Amino acid sequence: MAVVLIIGAGGVGRVVAHKCVRNADTFTSITLASRTLEKCRVIQEELPEGAIDIAQIDADNTRDVVTLIKRTGAEILINVALPYQDLTLMDACIEAGIDYVDTANYEHPDEAKFEYKEQWARDDAFKKAGIMGLLGSGFDPGATNVFCAYAQKHYFDEIHTIDILDCNGGDHGYPFATNFNPEINLREVSARGRYWEDGVWIETEPMAIHMPWDYPEIGVKESYLLYHEEMESLVKHIKGLKRIRFFMTFGESYLTHMKVLENVGMLGIEPVEHHGHKIIPIEFLATLLPDPASLGARTKGKTNIGIVAEGIKNGRKRKIYIYQVSDHEACYQEVNSQAVSYTTGVPAMIGAKLIVEKQWYATGVFNMEEFDPDPFMEAMNRQGLPWNIQEL
Ligand code: NDP
Repeated sequence: MAVVLIIGAGGVGRVVAHKCVRNADTFTSITLASRTLEKCRVIQEELPEGAIDIAQIDADNTRDVVTLIKRTGAEILINVALPYQDLTLMDACIEAGIDYVDTANYEHPDEAKFEYKEQWARDDAFKKAGIMGLLGSGFDPGATNVFCAYAQKHYFDEIHTIDILDCNGGDHGYPFATNFNPEINLREVSARGRYWEDGVWIETEPMAIHMPWDYPEIGVKESYLLYHEEMESLVKHIKGLKRIRFFMTFGESYLTHMKVLENVGMLGIEPVEHHGHKIIPIEFLATLLPDPASLGARTKGKTNIGIVAEGIKNGRKRKIYIYQVSDHEACYQEVNSQAVSYTTGVPAMIGAKLIVEKQWYATGVFNMEEFDPDPFMEAMNRQGLPWNIQEL
């Protein structure tokens, strides 16, 4: 049905490549391109011979990406490189006239700030080009936005509060490592907390608000309030919403390491002078830390990510919990990646599949909750991410 170009051969790119190959009726030709060709080759060798083509690309260079799109005949691009590449890749899609999917909102490399502004600003250009851009088709953002839309459609007349709850109960055996790109991860968790209530954003000190939550199949874990990008679009699209917050679990060892690294300046994003060279501390730290892609083989335990929504149905109060549990070892067995990459890569593939099959299609730039959640939820069950709903 469509030729796909996947950009980024990291932990998530591996999962997307594996899952596209398993959906060969939708993705008739697959190219995986990334900065380091060797990483594409390793993934290519895990797959049946001839299942994917590979290419080297600098995704910061729109021209080169347009040339690659034309050479491969791609009709849709799945961006699982880094958030820094979102704009150059969106611009390449506009120029080449093909659809676009990503999993994380744009971040400027020099400023730790997550927002959709510059991606939403491309809505007109996407409309003019007659193409679709689907933003944040990972798990959170991604599946969590779809959970909210599903709750809205089937369970509530009005949703008043949403808590997004993200638990990684996995253990990789290292004293400190991050489960996805260290730079993106550490920038996210060291930032000030922020949530939305009664129409305004409220800021907190990093990790200032926390609560225990009993995650099904994992147990009680302390969960910390963070800012997370899906809230920016959900406050626009979920009607009647009064408050939305995002919580993520962290172990004590992780938090202690983070605090020490922050105190000694290792999380800095400004260049510093070191023996006549300029280095960026957080980039250097990322070089020292284990490659997230290497954690898969040693990670045990489960992830549980979901939403708790409270509101009104037929004049009565209601509270529901929609969540998905993935097992790190089972994910690794299936696609050689741990559950954090798996739970991101599968929704990226599903988002692209729904676009290719025109189950989700409109021209312009969209967030996940703007489409009918049902086909996505059904696809999650079929593609390895079965979910549950509890009335609380
Ligand atoms: P990795 O760092 O493992 O992989 C990123 C890949 O992109 C690497 O292969 C890297 O190349 C490549 N890349 C980086 N810059 C360029 C460039 N300029 N040109 C071409 N290729 C480039 O990250 P992950 O796989 O863990 O994450 C991928 C994306 O998924 C990120 O945007 C992340 O924020 C997002 N994510 C989203 C989640 C969600 O639930 N929505 C959860 C987790 C991640 P090289 O190997 O040469 O460095």
